[in-house]
Amino acid sequence: MNAVRRQPRPDLAATLADLGIPADYGADSHLPCYEEARDLVEVEANFTGKVQQLERDTAKLWHGMKLAALADGIELQLVSGFRSIARQKELIAEKLAAGKALGEILKVVAAPGFSQHHTGMALDLTTGDVDPLSEDFETTPAFRWLNKHAREHGFYLPYPRDNPSGFIYEPWHWASVQLKHPRRG
Ligand SMILES: [Zn+2]
Repeated sequence: MNAVRRQPRPDLAATLADLGIPADYGADSHLPCYEEARDLVEVEANFTGKVQQLERDTAKLWHGMKLAALADGIELQLVSGFRSIARQKELIAEKLAAGKALGEILKVVAAPGFSQHHTGMALDLTTGDVDPLSEDFETTPAFRWLNKHAREHGFYLPYPRDNPSGFIYEPWHWASVQLKHPRRG
């Protein structure tokens, strides 16, 4: 199974329309579509106590990387792993209901079907006292460790500063290299 699709999926049209997202979202950007994971395993609870799931092979890679970091005195904590397309839709609907503009929402939350988290192969990480999902993560020893060692464990940083996907800089978001894909155009 290939987790990355180059073409938008027809079955997402209704979901996008419900949120007021144009049907050609993703067509003219650097955003591929992602398949929902089919082989998920529970890994660990995050700081809110919610148990996170990852795709089976990614879970193994994550455990390996976490232990290697620990051996270097670095604590990596999982904030968020798998997220369904339905949950992604809810997240955006909640932000719209709170009065946020769609364009601003889509800079920080991918449209349903376009989040790497659907695959169970993406991890949002935190460490120590840093605010989860804040850019401050880049100032931590954990981030420096990841920059040096994540590749050895099969992970990369998909959304660096000024990335072409249109997303904000996400130093906390790491993904399995299996999600790397040739850029369109
Ligand atoms: Zn993420």
